[in-house]
Amino acid sequence: MRKEFRDSINTALHNPNLTGALGRFSEAYRISREKAYEGIDFEAVRTQIADRKGYAASHLDELADRFTQQIEARGAKVFRTDDPAKVREYILNLAQQNGVKTVVKSKSMASEEIHLNKHLEKAGIEVRETDLGEWIVQLAGQTPSHMVMPAIHMTKEEVDDVFSDKVEQGQAADIPKLVKFARGKLRTKFLCAEMGITGANIAVAETGTLVVITNEGNARLVTTLPRIHVAIVGIEKLVSEFADVVPILTALPRSATAQLLTSYVTMISGPVPNTDGTPKQLHVILMDNRRTEMSHDPKFKQALQCVRCASCLNVCPVFRLVGGHVFGKIYTGGIGTILTAWFDALRSSDEIQSLCIQCGNCTQFCPGKIDIPGLILELRRRIAVEKGQPLAQKAIFKVVNNRRLFHSMLRTASLAQKPLAKDGFIRHLPFFLSDMTEFRSLPAIADEPLRDKFAKIEQPKCTEKAAFYSGCLIDFAYPEMGESVIKILNKAGIEVIFPEGQTCCGAPARFSGAYEVAAQNAKDNIDAMLSEDVQYVVSACPTCTVALKHDFIANFESLGQTESLPRARELAAKVTDFSSLVKKLVDEGRLTFKEGRQLGKVTYHDSCHLKRTLNVSEQPRELLTKAGYEISEMYEADMCCGMGGSYSLKLPEISAPILERKLKNIKDTGAPLVAMDCPGCVMQIRGGLDKDGAEIKVEHTAQRLAEELE
Ligand code: SF4
Repeated sequence: MRKEFRDSINTALHNPNLTGALGRFSEAYRISREKAYEGIDFEAVRTQIADRKGYAASHLDELADRFTQQIEARGAKVFRTDDPAKVREYILNLAQQNGVKTVVKSKSMASEEIHLNKHLEKAGIEVRETDLGEWIVQLAGQTPSHMVMPAIHMTKEEVDDVFSDKVEQGQAADIPKLVKFARGKLRTKFLCAEMGITGANIAVAETGTLVVITNEGNARLVTTLPRIHVAIVGIEKLVSEFADVVPILTALPRSATAQLLTSYVTMISGPVPNTDGTPKQLHVILMDNRRTEMSHDPKFKQALQCVRCASCLNVCPVFRLVGGHVFGKIYTGGIGTILTAWFDALRSSDEIQSLCIQCGNCTQFCPGKIDIPGLILELRRRIAVEKGQPLAQKAIFKVVNNRRLFHSMLRTASLAQKPLAKDGFIRHLPFFLSDMTEFRSLPAIADEPLRDKFAKIEQPKCTEKAAFYSGCLIDFAYPEMGESVIKILNKAGIEVIFPEGQTCCGAPARFSGAYEVAAQNAKDNIDAMLSEDVQYVVSACPTCTVALKHDFIANFESLGQTESLPRARELAAKVTDFSSLVKKLVDEGRLTFKEGRQLGKVTYHDSCHLKRTLNVSEQPRELLTKAGYEISEMYEADMCCGMGGSYSLKLPEISAPILERKLKNIKDTGAPLVAMDCPGCVMQIRGGLDKDGAEIKVEHTAQRLAEELE
């Protein structure tokens, strides 16, 4: 990671205006968005959007032709090109041929994608953004920090400074006054501009209609007052039929700004007359810029389902800390990383892809149903293929892939750590490692790993068997969690085996784009976990469970290693997470809770992979309640804790504030105990609370239940 990139992250993190505004907005957003969707079946709406935009992405040529036919029949002119340079050239020629001196623009990301303003300004044409936020950032010489709210990073005082400095001295830091001032200044530009440029939110092939939505009404003035209207439309905005507009218009304002409808929905199906009765010129530029190529890519085609609502940004735990400028390009956040890799160049996403913590929150909210974290992993894989893996990473994976070497190194480390470990924690590391313990204590490596303890655990002989997949953390840091799982399953009449050949689940390699390494991990684990005939393969780590159940298959598919798929599927069919299995056993009456227990308050933290990939969130709550706990829900229980596997080591400056927010939410519940189903989250949250000095116990659900079951 370049120093400049790291510096830009730190600048953003230390900008209280940015983090404050984004933090407040993202908190309010979730509540108001939920209200806006009341009475609407979000899943049904987004399925319709995904289906209709997915269909459009498969028929781009056909839809572009139909759209062109329809709108040209009413007097518009359509120019279609793949080349951003040709878009710039077309608009400049048009402006010069028509003696255009001033252009007014309403918000258009497609125009920013091709740096149109600079090009026109270089030729002596004045370009005025008319969306208030866009105008502010234009005056400030900045780029938008958010796709929908371009100037969210600026305070009213800063806006006042910009207006006073760049437009007219003597403004006041008062929002209504600033808005009135901007309106007055922009009005005169609308009246004198000879050309108006817009984008479009939707382009309907069936009717040749452009749909433009705004809250300020500026698009109506841009499209009606100047003699020439140019609409720059990315071809992914095409949909087949007019009916396709309905789900998009249902979701877009609700997801973008939690509004039921934007203030202005403008539909343009052809040129309208000028005020003097002469016909207006309407030019529609259907811009490709690799969108067609994207539609032919089986993985990335789904990114064309994006409706640019930015809700993926609003709910991203990283974006709300760093904002959009660190992305360095027009499109920001997770989807922006993907679009940048395509519309700019794959290497442009090399650093920014590392910002994604893989929590999956965005996918849950995306009205286009886009698997943003999955596509970012695919970018990482392609970057790793193009550039090769970094040497240090290669060396680490070489060790992790050699189970015996890796485990003997951990055993040696367990001895070497003695002078640094106290009460199960390492609170300070020396030298260049000190960053790792700055914001949280680390767990000490266990004196005896679970794999060594296992043979000494007495178990009943049962016909029903489960293989326990511990994952590295339970095996080497928290063996007591594994012992609790074994104890519970034994109570249900299930004997647990611990296949010795099990090794790292491959998540660290997969998250780094090293799919070949992850595939080798998968093969070793499949051999180990299927070595005995068992009814269940159970894991108490959601990341490992996802790897065993989904990622092994996805990895083999990505690499074309189809011969490995049948055994990967055989394993996946047996894999279950801890809480789902225990709930099933309780429901079947094979496990019962001790009666009359009143254990007090507990708050529960949802681990990202458990909640969003495995869809498990109610099960552990129900089990804890049945055990006798009173659940006191924390705010944003399903927001990431900042662990993200090796993310917290690579980007501790981002991991730390995410954790800080989580700890505050935990403390606010007043519960003396926080439970969770993930040893990684335990490591992060327990370590954070230890550093903080808070006396709140952090435990895996298995540890809490083990004592409460008969
Ligand atoms: S990826 Fe999804 S959530 Fe993000 S801007 Fe696009 S449609 Fe909205």
